[in-house]
Parts: sequence; C-alpha cells; structure tokens
Amino acid sequence: MKKKIFIIGNGFASLFLIQYFLLLPVFPFFTGFFRRIYAKYEITVIGNGSFIYFPAIPEFITGKKNKEKITLDIRPFLKRRNIQFINAMVIDIQDGGRTVITNNGHYKNDMLFLGIGPSFLKNDIAGTQAHTLSPCDGPDSMALFIDKLESMDSGVIYLGFKINKKDGFVSGRAGQMYECACLLDYALKKRGVRDKFEIHFFSSNLSQGDSGLITDKLRERDIILDYAYEPVEFVAGGMLDQDGTFRKADLVLFSSGITGFDWLQKSCLPVSKGGQIAVDKYGQVNGLSQVFAAGDCASHENPPPWVPHQAHMAQLRSQAAAKNMALVLAGKKSKHLYRFELSCIMNMENDALWLHMASDNKPPFWNIFPKQSKILTRVKNNFERFYLFYLKYL
Ligand SMILES: Cc1cc2nc3c(=O)[nH]c(=O)nc-3n(C[C@H](O)[C@H](O)[C@H](O)COP(=O)(O)OP(=O)(O)OC[C@H]3O[C@@H](n4cnc5c(N)ncnc54)[C@H](O)[C@@H]3O)c2cc1C
Repeated sequence: MKKKIFIIGNGFASLFLIQYFLLLPVFPFFTGFFRRIYAKYEITVIGNGSFIYFPAIPEFITGKKNKEKITLDIRPFLKRRNIQFINAMVIDIQDGGRTVITNNGHYKNDMLFLGIGPSFLKNDIAGTQAHTLSPCDGPDSMALFIDKLESMDSGVIYLGFKINKKDGFVSGRAGQMYECACLLDYALKKRGVRDKFEIHFFSSNLSQGDSGLITDKLRERDIILDYAYEPVEFVAGGMLDQDGTFRKADLVLFSSGITGFDWLQKSCLPVSKGGQIAVDKYGQVNGLSQVFAAGDCASHENPPPWVPHQAHMAQLRSQAAAKNMALVLAGKKSKHLYRFELSCIMNMENDALWLHMASDNKPPFWNIFPKQSKILTRVKNNFERFYLFYLKYL
C-alpha cells in the first residue's frame, strides 16, 4: 500500500513543498496521466482551496491589484499532480501527528507537513480587532481599508506594526507596512489630496533615533515618524496613549505580531515560546517523527535575529523539508539545512528598494538587479505573474 502523506494548508509553504517533493516541478495538463501511473505516494492536501498571493496586497492602495487578481483556485494545480484535496479546516492533531482532526472528519497519515501560516496577536493591544484593518488579514480587510480611504477627502491615517520577538527572530510584518505607507503617499498625491492628509508611521519595535534607507524614504514623503510609539488601546476615531490622552486617527492600518493558532496549544504539537510550531533546523517538528512544518506557522532553531517570516523564507524552508521528507521516507535521516535570507522588493510605485540580508552573504540573483530603482516594481510584478502562471497552468 502507498504511504499516505498529508499536507495541511494551501499557501506558499505547502505549494513550495509540493514543487520540491515531486519528481518534476511542473505538470502541464497532459502529464497528470503519467503522475497517476508513477505516483509513489498518496498525497492529500487539506485546506480551503483558495491560494492568496499576499505580497500583492499593498498594491490595492494604488488600485493596480484587487482580490480577484491575486486569488486562485488551487484545485486544478493539485489535480494535475494527482494530489487529493479535502476542503476542511484542521482543528486538532493527535497521536504524535498520525491523526489529523478537521471540521469534516478524522484522517490518518504516515507523514505530515504543516504549512498553515500565521495567526496574529490581536489581543496584544486592546481594540485591535474592532478598530484597525490589516493587509495581513487578507484581501477583504485591505479592500475595506481602500473603501474607507476613498470615502475620505482629508484626515489622519496611522500605519504601524508590532513584532513578536519571543522566538528570537522577526515574527511580524514590518517591510509590508513600510510599503503600504509609501504607496499610500503615492496614491494620495495622485488624487491631488496629499496635503489634506497626515500619514503617521508607528511601532514600539523602532527607536526614536532609528535611521536608514527606509526611514529616509518615509521622511522624503513627509510621513510623520512616531517611532517607539504604541497605543494602549485602539478606540473609535483614534487611540489612547499610556497617560490616557486621545490621539485622533481616522483610519488605522496595523499588523500585530505573528504567533501560532490557538488550537496548537491543545494538539500534540510542541509550541515555541512565541506560540509557533517548534521545529528543528531540518524542518522536523521537535520530538515527533515524520512530522514537518515550514512557513509562517513554524519557529526556527537558532535563527539570526533579523530573519523575518516571508514567502521567500517559506520557499527555502519547504525546499529543505521536502528533501528531508524524501530521505525519511527512504528510511534515512534528515540532513538538508536551509539558508536564512531576507529578500524582498519594497514597492513605492515611483521608486523601489531591494531589501536583502543573507546568513551566507550571498547577493540576490548574482546582483544582476539594482538595489534601488523604479525598475524593481516591474521585476516584482513579473515574479508575481510568473508564479501565478505556474500555479494556473504548469
Ligand atoms: C501584505 C503582505 C505583503 C507581503 N509581501 C511579501 C513579499 O514581498 N515577499 C515575501 O517573501 N513575503 C511577503 N509576505 C509574506 C508572505 O505572504 C508569507 O510569509 C507567506 O504567505 C507564508 O506562507 P505560508 O504558507 O506559511 O502561509 P500562508 O500563505 O498564509 O498559507 C497558509 C495556508 O494555510 C491554510 N490554513 C490555515 N489554517 C488552516 C487550518 N486550520 N486547516 C487547514 N488549512 C489552514 C490557509 O488557508 C492557507 O492556505 C507578505 C505578507 C503580507 C500579508
């Protein structure tokens, strides 16, 4: 009987895992038949069937992207690969990872991969859920932000982030929020109303004297830097400072720190200090056999403090996990490690920065791209187009 591999989630981590685990990375429609004949394992994905290309969400602000453009039915991609799909949400995992419990039934597996993405610390600052919106909550929350923005002729807008540092790395979304602030400046200028708006940028993870290229970009755009600031509460029409002072904010776009889902706490999975699935340097879930995890749901073993949760990191982690899963299935030990790398293009529409840092100091793409140029906005768009084309047709 074929071994049963279960993959939970249909986001970046799971799709990269599939790409690196299968013999071929691409499967045009006619190859599905061969995969059916040669399939070594019975693979099943549990998820909602809908892939979201999160890195494009900030571009809702310029009107270039919307929910339809960045959401994809992932079932044809799975079908081409002869991968079964179960439309369900996992609510628990037991028996050392061998039993997956969903809102739709129980499933047994021989090997498990978790790519369930992040949960956010919404209770960290009171009122976050009720009075802020976030690009990290997905396209609907961002669309609501755009609707509200379009209904305003003037006002005060705050953008900010918070990082969960308990696991020793950047478990939060800073770069994405900087990107949103710069795109907001661009969009308001284009509408001819920038002088009627105050844009503030805040984070208690930043210090008042912080400087650097990104800070320069915010300053150039007259964005008010409330570095080191954190409200005690978000309330209707604004926020409250430590001393109870009310600050007016007509609109707040905020990204809370990243953690793991609440249900992990009662599952058999080990949970890190920061609330994420605790994994080792091979992507194996600590203390459990034949259970792997990657992407925003998983902590790292000995991470450098600058590494963030990113689709790019999810790719590197899933690549190593896929190779290690193949080894373990063949009765061998995991041996593949992953590199730590921060790599992303911060799109400001009239300019862009390639933010980069790597544990081995390797430059991105052999340094063929400039570090700062408007051209990078096109490069970023092309990455997106290519990846969505791959998911749709290959
Ligand atoms: C606004 C924004 C901009 C970004 N920009 C960039 C960028 O420029 N570059 C970059 O590299 N990264 C960027 N990121 C980060 C990147 O999107 C994430 O790191 C990436 O999505 C993580 O992949 P993942 O598979 O771990 O999680 P996700 O992509 O969130 O996928 C998680 C999957 O698990 C499913 N799931 C969750 N819970 C369950 C459950 N209980 N049962 C079954 N399925 C479940 C979800 O439905 C989803 O399919 C950005 C993120 C945001 C929000």
